[in-house]
Amino acid sequence: MCGIFGYTGQRKKAAEIVFDGLKQLEYRGYDSWGVGVCVGDNFVIDKHAGKIGNAVVNLPDRSFSFGHTRWATHGGVTDKNAHPHLDCTKTIAIVHNGIIENFQEIRKKLSPKHTIISETDTEIMAHLIEEYRKKYDTVEAIRLAFLECQGLSAFLIADAKSKMLIAVKTGSPLVVGVGQGENLVGSDAHCLLSLTRNVVFLENNQLAVLTQDNVDFLDVKGGHEIKPNIHTLDWKPENTKKGKYKHFLIKEVSEQPRVLENIALHYAEEVRKLSKLITEAFGTFMLGCGSASYAALSGVYLFSKIAKKHVNFGIGSEFSYLEDYLTSKSLVIPISQSGETIDVVEPVSKAKKKGVKIAALVNVMGSTLYRQADFRLMLGAGQEKAVIGTKSFTAMFAVLLFSAYAIVNKEKVAKNLLLAASKNVSKILDKKTVSKIKKLAKILKEKEHAYVIGRGLSYAAALEGTLKLKETSYLHAEGFAGGELKHGVIALIEKGTPCFVIAPNDETYDEIISNAQEVKARGGLIVGVGPRENDVFDIFLKTEDIKEATLIPQVVYFQLLGYFLALEKGFKDPDKPRNLAKSVTVK
Ligand code: GLU
Repeated sequence: MCGIFGYTGQRKKAAEIVFDGLKQLEYRGYDSWGVGVCVGDNFVIDKHAGKIGNAVVNLPDRSFSFGHTRWATHGGVTDKNAHPHLDCTKTIAIVHNGIIENFQEIRKKLSPKHTIISETDTEIMAHLIEEYRKKYDTVEAIRLAFLECQGLSAFLIADAKSKMLIAVKTGSPLVVGVGQGENLVGSDAHCLLSLTRNVVFLENNQLAVLTQDNVDFLDVKGGHEIKPNIHTLDWKPENTKKGKYKHFLIKEVSEQPRVLENIALHYAEEVRKLSKLITEAFGTFMLGCGSASYAALSGVYLFSKIAKKHVNFGIGSEFSYLEDYLTSKSLVIPISQSGETIDVVEPVSKAKKKGVKIAALVNVMGSTLYRQADFRLMLGAGQEKAVIGTKSFTAMFAVLLFSAYAIVNKEKVAKNLLLAASKNVSKILDKKTVSKIKKLAKILKEKEHAYVIGRGLSYAAALEGTLKLKETSYLHAEGFAGGELKHGVIALIEKGTPCFVIAPNDETYDEIISNAQEVKARGGLIVGVGPRENDVFDIFLKTEDIKEATLIPQVVYFQLLGYFLALEKGFKDPDKPRNLAKSVTVK
């Protein structure tokens, strides 16, 4: 996944600029980091395993620098595997986001003649460029080497002699910042904004050559120059400080009432446009990964229940194998916080080639999905810094609920439900409820497993709820459709096994309570989540009864529980759980 940043210009402390840029990109991966500068014709590189977070860079003042924060795909998390990597001449340095799928083949070909130091796929690109440089100039060598690599990758290559930075990509994002007497490149546009507002979103198979005073753009396949499309961004910098909160995660959970209110009050027109597209399409397919996939699943229930419409749902990474039935009359709705999730971007690119209309729900302006879409609806959750998605999920769900009501011209109903959900979330965030959740976290700390069951729309909540527990507190948790228990899952229940039962005041209530009884009969500890108390519950987490919007407070309980369980277990940084990255740009 990784973050890439490069700078060439007049400022003398380029390494610090790169370092600050990488800190902003840390959401993309944080298992190791590295920064390089040029001293004369040589590179000096500082690279380490571990988070860049509070590290300090220790490099000489120079005006040319580049760096990387890694999410390992090939090779362990070690200093040696951290980027940048060098060729044998030590005049080419490379940082990389993605996977070179045919790296073993290339490695085999190069290894008799080259000293390959790391276990990464990335390093072979440096040596491949070195090979091509024996016959071609640097840019042509990079172009040819890039064409030889299979898979989806973004590379930033530094040439120590010419002091050029060369950016080239297919799949993973890269944005070039065009300044005055300085040029830069980063994995997203936000990290460039403090230095320039003029940016070029590099498209697939485009290459940019950056020097202090100039940027040239090339088409990789044809090898010819191209005219860049420069965007001047008027984005306002967002409040990205923790303020009174200890972690971004709890700050972002607490921002949900405001996010919901904003959608309720300001989104009617936008959701009407989306609902029109859905009504006109012959087949609508929502796509997402992780939390976004559960938001999409909730959409299937919402559109069926509220608008009597069959809207399909697919997991992004599986959709490529399913999408043969799409036609130019279909509508695909990719849902993604970052707008960069490669498992969604790829099937959307394929669908676009078939003439399918794309209506993207994203939280990051200018992201790949944002740019790919024919219609785009910004989620308006504000920047989400914690790796765990909270307010972005709520915003996705709220927009889908609003759109479903808009199809049947009942926007007002949706607005009131979302305002009520906003109030309910505020109530859950009060001291009394939080202390109840903290007590429950103490109980869960002693448990190895937890299960969450729900039916209908609450099945989507069960899946999202278990994901929050897993990724924040590493508790093994599984979500199931209530009716599925007896088909095998109930074998997992032992005395004291916690089972959350999501029981809203809807058509699923009686049956999910029966399922709760079945678990209780086998010794399970039942935690009820819903508006109505029931004797079967050992512990009760109360929500208001706000029809379909009840899913929101249900999920907020799991967000809080995951967070407080993580703290209870002594995890130092719930904003960055192990092994994860926020923007998932590798397959
Ligand atoms: N494949 C490269 C590695 O494992 C880059 C991974 C990334 O995108 O961070 O080092």
